[in-house]
Amino acid sequence: MRTEQARPVRLSDYRPPAWLIDTVELDVKLHPNATRVRAVLALKPNETTPAPVVLDGEDLKLIGLSLNDTPLTAEQYVVTPDGLTIPQPPAGPFKLTIETELDPAANTRLMGLYKSGATYCTQCEAEGFRRITYFPDRPDVMAVYTTRVEAEKAEAPVLLANGNCIEAGDIAGTTRHFAVWHDPFPKPSYLFALVGGRLGFIEDRLTTASGRNVVLRIYVEPGKEGRCAWAMDSLKRSMRWDEQAFGREYDLDIFMIVAVSDFNMGAMENKGLNVFNDKYVLATADTATDQDYASIEAIIAHEYFHNWTGDRITCRDWFQLCLKEGLTVFRDQEFTSDQRSRSVKRIADVRGLRAHQFVEDAGPLAHPVRPEVYNEINNFYTATVYEKGAEVVRMLKTLLGPDGFRQGMDLYFTRHDGHAATVDQFIACFADANSADLGQFMRWYSQAGTPDVAVTVSHDAKTQICRLEIAQVVPPTPGQPIKQPMVIPIALGLIGADGRDLPLVLADGRKVERGVVTLTKPSDSFEFTGIAQRPVPSLNRGFSAPIKLSANLSADDLRFMAARDSDPFNRWQALQTLATTLLIDNVSAIRTGKSPREDAGLLAAFAAILNDRDLEPAFVALALTPPSEADIARDIGRDVDPEAIFAARKALRTAMAAHLGTALPETYQRFAATGPYSPDAASAGRRALKNACLDLLAVSAEPAAIARVASQYAAADNMTDRMAALATLSVHDLPQREAALGDFYRRFESDPLVIDKWFTLQAMIPEPGTLARVRELTNHPAFSFANPNRIRALIGAFAQSNQKEFNRGDGAGYEFLADTVLALDPKNPQVAARLMTAFRSWRALEPTRRVKAEAALRRVAAAASLSRDVKDIVGRTLADNS
Ligand SMILES: [Zn+2]
Repeated sequence: MRTEQARPVRLSDYRPPAWLIDTVELDVKLHPNATRVRAVLALKPNETTPAPVVLDGEDLKLIGLSLNDTPLTAEQYVVTPDGLTIPQPPAGPFKLTIETELDPAANTRLMGLYKSGATYCTQCEAEGFRRITYFPDRPDVMAVYTTRVEAEKAEAPVLLANGNCIEAGDIAGTTRHFAVWHDPFPKPSYLFALVGGRLGFIEDRLTTASGRNVVLRIYVEPGKEGRCAWAMDSLKRSMRWDEQAFGREYDLDIFMIVAVSDFNMGAMENKGLNVFNDKYVLATADTATDQDYASIEAIIAHEYFHNWTGDRITCRDWFQLCLKEGLTVFRDQEFTSDQRSRSVKRIADVRGLRAHQFVEDAGPLAHPVRPEVYNEINNFYTATVYEKGAEVVRMLKTLLGPDGFRQGMDLYFTRHDGHAATVDQFIACFADANSADLGQFMRWYSQAGTPDVAVTVSHDAKTQICRLEIAQVVPPTPGQPIKQPMVIPIALGLIGADGRDLPLVLADGRKVERGVVTLTKPSDSFEFTGIAQRPVPSLNRGFSAPIKLSANLSADDLRFMAARDSDPFNRWQALQTLATTLLIDNVSAIRTGKSPREDAGLLAAFAAILNDRDLEPAFVALALTPPSEADIARDIGRDVDPEAIFAARKALRTAMAAHLGTALPETYQRFAATGPYSPDAASAGRRALKNACLDLLAVSAEPAAIARVASQYAAADNMTDRMAALATLSVHDLPQREAALGDFYRRFESDPLVIDKWFTLQAMIPEPGTLARVRELTNHPAFSFANPNRIRALIGAFAQSNQKEFNRGDGAGYEFLADTVLALDPKNPQVAARLMTAFRSWRALEPTRRVKAEAALRRVAAAASLSRDVKDIVGRTLADNS
């Protein structure tokens, strides 16, 4: 066992590696329980002062160790559970040969080399390579890898590794064969990958901008080749887009994706050999929803874009994780915006940011986009690093404009290609390319917490001046009690009575560039001249900064914006703001035994959106979706009662269904049956709106409405319509629900990815019987604690997405999650720690639930032998930061 005590790692302790590695030659002989790895490392000193060679290692059996081909004696090196040290190495370059033995079949952590079903595969980010061989397992050690893989032909007819295949063949006189792969691009160990197994594939080709002919392959379990067409199409569009949008071209002869079913994350950008959770590769109309298609497209793009932002230029250390992740999320968001609808994508991304990152930022797990300390890096693959990291890059573009942004990116690619870089170096490229001072902007990387921005709008008819007073406060977060003011770019418009934007001219006669004012001080004011009548200010358009905004806008202003704003994001936002105000009032009312009130103006605004035929259906579907229970809880912020929130939201949806009247069935009919299924964005948008109407129509549970849902379920010719109907049925305790759930299982029982949807729907039923149902389902033959997708589908969905039942008043939901985490932790600590984050908002709960959540947390904290992953999360979650 390795030591599991906390080991805070600090950015301020960073030191360059004492030894570098030019080349790595690996020879891997695959075997289920005794895989032999021979690694030849060409080491060279990075410092003039002699230093020991310190290599990381974990769960390894050392077989042999030699230096320049001479075996080392036991006195010449030290092996511990965490690594291997050579205290007195030679002064100059030398060759170290290490032979280790691994047990892939016993590797339930799914880090390093493991078996997913019959397939050997690897996952090395962040610190998995040390589970393959002893190595300086840190991203700033970049080497050129040559990998020879050998296996029984019958067991693993396909042998893959990073780079280009330079040799392959049978081993004479045996039943074994081999393949040698060479990757000419220096890379850190976390980007190493190897796959062996019985796999089928589909192949395509793409000629890059400079005429390089690249082979594209997607490998899957045999029989699933027919479900890869969308992933391949997405890959080709991604490659083309990166050439056009960023001038980045692919650089090897072959690009491979391998889909495996047991995977801790979504996908991994290993150089030339991406390994994917099969959930993000496999799709057909019968098995995947529109949302699945969109996710596959986005994740294929994301991992491909890493080839430049991550692989060619990597991170110096793990504190810089956002350098590759925030930037690459920004790039995949832009890709999706160009492929689909920019405004719909923006709304979806902001909903996700608020649901995950804002909640994280407001609780005990808050941390800066670039953290300064960690106990376990696996716990920092967070919404803050990814999604807020992307927002920071987006703000750079907003501040510098598209051309200035592109110049900064071009300089970054030129200056740092082939190197391990830092966030400071990244930002310096934008500063240098634009002669800009981005010193204060760096606070977005160093300060945690979501800035609260308050805007006071006033208008003087006599001087024709509209004045905005803007003030910012960044709330305290763990370890950061006092904050400095941030650079906040606020895109805005002043809307005249006719619905048109008025010219933005400042008091000194300057026009506001690109409609963006920038707040850099704790408070500031901006005066716009030539404004005859009080305008309606549309603030933070397109969500130009990741802030919580409040402004002295009236309900009339918001309704006007919902109907007239030229910025679609703020049309949506205006409805959300109106609905949030109503919902928060109604939560209070319900808790004091009163009836929820209706807001006729809001209902009329919903009706106007539904009846506006000029709007994109996907936008209308989003606009008709009230804030989620989690959104409402976040905005309430303290003394949260999930039961009352559920009731308030249900009351609003009931009122919407009644008020929207015949427009709902009419819209449903208008978008019903439209020829063969196509996953394109426009078709998906029509289905989204149709199914939103179907769901609202069923709120009342009237027999005719339920019958309509049941008949859509039965007649559906695609998974989107079938799942939408099943989701609607699943929240109604009626015989049709069990009938449909039973039918769904029988139809898809041979397909684990589809059965995951069946698990998720049942975990999300907002009824007291759900916890018992979830417990029961953990014993279902289709469920397995060994597979991360199953765990996330059932237990993750219950804990993260069923606010009401996870937060049951009797605390049984908390106890169930604690039991599950404790049982899972010894096998897969990474997934266990992720489940544990469902407790992150426990302090915001009303007192009865808070006490019960704390008891469950303390029980986990007190358990003997917790993994470092879970110990870190539970410790930070319980820490008193007040
Ligand atoms: Zn990524």
